[in-house]
Amino acid sequence: MPASTRIAALDFRAYQRKDLDSIPELRRLSPGELEAIKVVSAVLPFRVNNYVVEQLIRWERGVEDPLFVLTFPQRDMLAPEDFGRLADLVRKGAPEAQIQALAREIQLGMNPHPAGQMELNVPTVDGEPLPGVQHKYRETVLFFPSQGQTCHAYCTYCFRWPQFVGLDELKFASREAETLVAYLKAHKEVSSVLFTGGDPLIMKTSVLRRYIEPLLSPGLEHITSIRVGTKAPAYWPYRFVTDADADDLLRLFEDVRSARKAFALMAHFSHPRELETPVAQAALRRIQSTGAVVRCQAPLIRRVNDKAQIWADMWRLQVQLGTVPYYMFVERDTGPKNYFEVPLARAAEIFHEAYSMVSGLARTVRGPSMSATPGKVKVVGAAEVRGEKVFILVFEQGRDPSWVGRPFFAQYDAEATWLDQLRPACGEREFFFEAEMRAMQSAGRHRPWGEDVPPRRTPVLFGHVEWD
Ligand SMILES: *Cc1c(COP(=O)(O)O)cnc(C)c1O
Repeated sequence: MPASTRIAALDFRAYQRKDLDSIPELRRLSPGELEAIKVVSAVLPFRVNNYVVEQLIRWERGVEDPLFVLTFPQRDMLAPEDFGRLADLVRKGAPEAQIQALAREIQLGMNPHPAGQMELNVPTVDGEPLPGVQHKYRETVLFFPSQGQTCHAYCTYCFRWPQFVGLDELKFASREAETLVAYLKAHKEVSSVLFTGGDPLIMKTSVLRRYIEPLLSPGLEHITSIRVGTKAPAYWPYRFVTDADADDLLRLFEDVRSARKAFALMAHFSHPRELETPVAQAALRRIQSTGAVVRCQAPLIRRVNDKAQIWADMWRLQVQLGTVPYYMFVERDTGPKNYFEVPLARAAEIFHEAYSMVSGLARTVRGPSMSATPGKVKVVGAAEVRGEKVFILVFEQGRDPSWVGRPFFAQYDAEATWLDQLRPACGEREFFFEAEMRAMQSAGRHRPWGEDVPPRRTPVLFGHVEWD
C-alpha cells in the first residue's frame, strides 16, 4: 500500500442514453451488446458518470463485470417480446418519438410502486397532505427533498425508477422544509429524520443546508438523529473531497453534530470494489472527521453481489474503514426485478455464510430484509418444526411497533422471492399481522401514534466543554 496517494480533482460528467457513443470504453463491447444497451435504456433509466466508467468498472471483464451489471442496462431486463419490438424500431432508425412512445407503453406495464407506499404513507398537516414525507414507522420520518430526486449514477435494479423517467404523477416531491418542520413539531413520537431520494447529496450544499438547518432549531429537541441515504461515497466520492462545495458539506455535517444530534450517512455500497479507490477512502475519512457515522447497506442483487464471499469481504472492509455494516436488503418487486432477484431461501443462505465469515464487529449487519407493506421483515432462516419445513421470519420494523421483534413462521418455499408469496405455516390461516394490516388499509392510515408516545427520558446534554 502506498503511504501517500495524491488524488486529482475530477469534474463530474454524466453519460445518458444520448451519450452512449461518446463513452470510449463501450467500444470494447460487441455490436449486439451495445445495441442492447441502446434499446433497454430507452425504457429504464440510465445514467453513469466518468468516475464509474473510469475507476469502478473493470472493462476487461466485459458485460459480466459486477459494476457494469450494476450500472448498465441489460437485454434481459425487458420481456423478450418487448425487447424485440423496441429493438426493431432502434435498428430501423425509427424517429425518437416513436421509440419513446413504445418505451412509455412498456414502462407502464411494469410495476413501479411496490409495498403500498402510495396508499398508506402520506402524512398531513392541518388536513393537507405532505407529498414529500413518509411516516411508516413511528420513530422515523422519511423525507424526499424535491431537489434530491436524482443520483450521480443509476443502479439498474432501482425500484425508484418511475421518478427518473418523468412519470410525474408517481413522484413523491416535497415543497419545502417548513412543512416538514411543522409536521415534526406536531409529532413528538419521531426521533429520526431520514433524507432520501434519489440521492439528497446530488444537491449543492447550499440547497441541502436549507433543508437540514431548520431541523436544528429549538422546538425539535425530540429529533435526536438526522440521516441521509446516499450512494455518493460509491458513485461520486469527489462530492466529499474535491468538489467546489465539499468543505461546505462537511461543515454542514459538523453543524448537525454541534446541535447535539447524531448524524449518519446511510451509504449504499453494493460491492467491495466501491470501497477500494483512493478517493472513496479519502471521502470516508473526511466524513468521519466531522463526527458523522457512516452506516452501510445494499440490496442482494443477482450477478452483482450474490456471493457470500463478496459480502464478507465488503463487511470486513467496511469495519476496517471505520464504518458500520447495517442492512442487507432483499431486492423488491419492481419492474426489471426478475432479472436481479434472488430467492429468499438463497438470500438467507448467502447471508448466513457471509455472517459466519466475519468477526462480531461486522455482525451489526441485519438481513436479508424485505421492506414490505407491513414492515421490514427479516428472513431469519429455514428450520423444521414437527416435521414441517418452515421459514422463521421476524419484523425489524413494523407499521405497528408491537410487531417488531416478534418471530413468525411461513411454509418453506425454495422459489419465493417476496413476503406476499409466502403462506403461513403450522396450519395457521393467516399471518398474525394480517388482520390489523387490513384494518389499516381500509382506514387508509395507521393507528394514531401521537396519542401513545412511549415515555422518553430527557437526557442531560453538554454543549461546549473546556478542560485544563
Ligand atoms: C428502513 C426505513 C426506515 C428506517 O428504519 P430504521 O430501522 O430506523 O433504520 C424508515 N422509514 C422507512 C419507510 C424505511 O423503509
